[in-house]
Amino acid sequence: MSSGAGPFKRRDTVDRTVVEEVARLLATAQSALFITGAGLSADSGLPTYRGVGGLYDRHDPELGMPIEALLSGDMMARRPELVWKHLHDMELACRTAAPNRGHEILALLEERIPRVVVFTQNVDGFHRMAGSKNVIAIHGDLHDLRCTRCDWRTTVRDYATLTFPPRCPRCAAVVRPDVVLFGEPLPEAPFQRFEAEVARGFDVVFSIGTSALFPYVARPVLLAKAERRPTVEINPSRTDLSDVVDLRLAAGARQALRAIWIALKGKNPKPTRLGR
Ligand code: NAD
Ligand code: ZN
Repeated sequence: MSSGAGPFKRRDTVDRTVVEEVARLLATAQSALFITGAGLSADSGLPTYRGVGGLYDRHDPELGMPIEALLSGDMMARRPELVWKHLHDMELACRTAAPNRGHEILALLEERIPRVVVFTQNVDGFHRMAGSKNVIAIHGDLHDLRCTRCDWRTTVRDYATLTFPPRCPRCAAVVRPDVVLFGEPLPEAPFQRFEAEVARGFDVVFSIGTSALFPYVARPVLLAKAERRPTVEINPSRTDLSDVVDLRLAAGARQALRAIWIALKGKNPKPTRLGR
């Protein structure tokens, strides 16, 4: 017979002391930056890019090429139908999923903290769907489409009515999602907006569900650390930022954010607009 809590007691993986400390920071913060990655949407059932069940190691069985070669700007120019096949798979995954409580809590925090910025690498559009207003989607959104030749663009709910590859109604050139493919530069306007926000500084900086491999993702955390501003990581796995941050929750994003939200409400019982 095993000792301990027994089979009916749920194992609590969120460190309560750290949760309390994070909630205390958020209760007084005037500004907060939330950097988010595929791990947050993994709790909605979308595959991450790296790690178990991720797309990173998946080679296209027909082409035998890594996903970076396939989902590249170069391939979009040469074989758009191949790229679209995979983008369509990603959009289908989004269509059957929805923002989770973690996305919702980040949106609710906008009502408590005067200045909140969500900087996401995700292309699923879930932050906006959950109600966050100040979102910088640095890799774009799968639902925004643009012509590869003229300036025609549109936003779609899903890809249900598209034929692949879709054509521009104005000039008949190939249409593509307005997302950053491998080998392409970051879009200038959102990047400048992000740089301006980072230059203003934040009272607390979070890295949530990202492997933080891109330098522009890790940099705000490193800058905050250098300025002795508190930094927090939420990720069940370790990353290069794990030894940098002041507070680390080794847990899933949804579970950790729920715990933080409950602790925060206990500290500062300010009613929110949505009353949640
Ligand atoms: P990544 O796949 O490199 O890393 C995901 C991270 O999330 C890992 O560190 C993993 O440990 C962590 N993680 C896994 N489950 C988690 C959970 N339940 N809670 C918290 N963390 C969890 O993702 P990235 O760093 O965001 O970089 C991926 C790139 O791929 C980006 O360029 C992004 O645009 C793209 N991408 C986007 C989506 C999406 O839009 N949902 C999905 C996959 C990939
Ligand atoms: Zn066009």
